[in-house]
Amino acid sequence: MGILDNKVAIVTGGSRGLGKVYCLRLAEEGARVVVADILEKEAQAVVDEIKAAGGQAIAVKTDVTSEEETVRMAEETVKKFGSIDVLINNAGYYYGMVRQPFYEVPVEEWDKAMLINAKGNWLCARAVFPQMKKQNKGKILNIASEACFAPTKGFIHYTASKWAAIGLTRVLAGELGQYNICVNIIAPGVIDTEATATYLDFEKMNTSSVPMGRFGKPDDVVGAVVFFASDDSDFISGQSLLIDGARRVN
Ligand code: NAP
Repeated sequence: MGILDNKVAIVTGGSRGLGKVYCLRLAEEGARVVVADILEKEAQAVVDEIKAAGGQAIAVKTDVTSEEETVRMAEETVKKFGSIDVLINNAGYYYGMVRQPFYEVPVEEWDKAMLINAKGNWLCARAVFPQMKKQNKGKILNIASEACFAPTKGFIHYTASKWAAIGLTRVLAGELGQYNICVNIIAPGVIDTEATATYLDFEKMNTSSVPMGRFGKPDDVVGAVVFFASDDSDFISGQSLLIDGARRVN
């Protein structure tokens, strides 16, 4: 018995990094998982891994910035599994992002961050809403960043786009409470993923700013994802949770 038995969960950007870890763990907890990512082959590999472990999953090619594809993501999920209980809005523009002063960030980079990290979350929430409303229950989890809670330098477009996700979370929690849909957001600190390694040398990072003495691993984040996806969080909505070894306090 898993805490997510009988639940159907969509994870956007689920083909690698944190999203992949979420997919595998949600499946381990009993959820039927929809791996929604632009990378079809990689999404299918995650599905194969879940199936090999005895779970159920499908891959649906989804660009979260496309209204059409997000609607299809929801339709395919219902067609295959009959419901949508959980949406993990994990897809984000983070991989390969260059740290630079605010006045040097190219306008296209600003637009890309806003498109994926803000509009993408909104479109996915909009796509699953009709089904969650019909069920009179649902869980939507957005992903911000510790960067939002510090005077982070060099990531103005990323930080602003993640604050947009926090704003979306608060408005959606207000609008969707009447349908028993919980909307929350987690803000991971520095987590060791392939994407983080594109701008940080994890091994050489000074950990003295983290009271717990280390930066995070994907496994440090996934427990909160399971909790917000589960019935155990049924009366929690509109909240932001920092997961960063006490590096910041909110
Ligand atoms: P990641 O490897 O860049 O994961 C993002 C995933 O989203 C990738 O699979 C990516 O696919 C996918 N994606 C990008 N654009 C998409 C689109 N338009 N439609 C669908 N999927 C799309 O980074 P990560 O480290 O696992 O982070 C995952 C999430 O956590 C991101 O939202 C990130 O901002 C957030 N976060 C990470 C950290 C950290 O330290 N790792 C800290 C705080 C917050 P591609 O490979 O094709 O780009």
